Amino acid sequence: METVLERMERIGADKKIADFMVKEQQPYSFKRRYAAIRAREFEAECDKRDLNCHVSVGGLDSIVLFLSLHSLHIRVPGISASHLEDSSIQRVHKALGIERMHSAAREDGKPWTKAAIIQEFGFPVLSKEVAAKIELLEHPSEKNKTVRHAIITGETGEYGGNREKSRMKMAQKWLELFAGYENENEGVDYKIAPFQVSSKCCYYLKEKPCDDWAREHNSVPYLGLMASEGGRRAKSLRINGCNYFGKSTIRSAPFAIFHRQDILTLALEMDEYYQAHWREFNQDPEAKVESIVPAIYGSIERREDGTLYTTKAQRTGCSMCGFGIHMERRPHRFDLLRERSRKEWEFWMLRCVTDPATGEQYGWGRVLDWIGVPWRDLPDGNFEEQCCLW
Ligand code: SF4
Repeated sequence: METVLERMERIGADKKIADFMVKEQQPYSFKRRYAAIRAREFEAECDKRDLNCHVSVGGLDSIVLFLSLHSLHIRVPGISASHLEDSSIQRVHKALGIERMHSAAREDGKPWTKAAIIQEFGFPVLSKEVAAKIELLEHPSEKNKTVRHAIITGETGEYGGNREKSRMKMAQKWLELFAGYENENEGVDYKIAPFQVSSKCCYYLKEKPCDDWAREHNSVPYLGLMASEGGRRAKSLRINGCNYFGKSTIRSAPFAIFHRQDILTLALEMDEYYQAHWREFNQDPEAKVESIVPAIYGSIERREDGTLYTTKAQRTGCSMCGFGIHMERRPHRFDLLRERSRKEWEFWMLRCVTDPATGEQYGWGRVLDWIGVPWRDLPDGNFEEQCCLW
């Protein structure tokens, strides 16, 4: 069987990555033209293959993508798990006529809720990649034995090219706190967290509903991904390019070579486009928005050196998600929730799940304590005067 390293060599991955990174350094005008060409090519190729296309819409990047395709006369539907987004994002989705996806259904036919997923599978915390690794350790099987060994040691075995220091190894900090399930197998002395961790939330709330919709509509997605944002997908974007027609995945990411500045520049242009064409998206004047930049981002402004920035959030995500929380400064997302709704905050921090063994209720507070993220005191370090919670 071909190893990962052999495959990388066969497809010329290093050269592909280098070529792609040259394109990422080009000026905005080049990238805008390049994105338009790739988007049209994708539509034409899908046409040949009898496939429909859609846009998977979430925050600002994909809102801009949806509008930019529309401006290129690529008229494809937008779909979104809108209910997970901030209300200001939901307003923009409505103005653009984006179709709302509901969560996947449970066995009893009722839709999954975030609290039910956390209760059943565990908390989405740290990052999707790390949560998935911890989840594997929590559920050992003969089948995932090699991967578990790689998570603890970095040794990939024969299929992974017998590498000894692969990126599969979980960061030492998280091994110490979460990898105790492997103590006996690996002769290590790590801890087991007093809660479960899982990456299933994304699957049941976002991925499955959108995948099901795509299957039913024989449709493949345009995605607002950028390699410059890093993360798990950066490498595959740089190797596979904007348009990818693989065996199990077909997708277009026309903004793959964009940087944040390019998206913000295009967002300003697309805002003007929307104001001139709003009736083509939703004819209801009540649904019209003053700006396609959702209020959670504030507005797009220019610094003295000419760079653009959003005055409020730089990025958004679902509320009550722990992905990335360990890297956030205070006031962090849980602090902001406390300001917005004390009641909701108490529910999520202290009793969103019940320990099946003891019947004890607990919540994100236990998770944040475990990974060393402060939340009990106020963001300025003071305690509230009449605190009756603990
Ligand atoms: S981003 Fe977080 S909260 Fe949102 S669906 Fe994924 S895991 Fe759940």
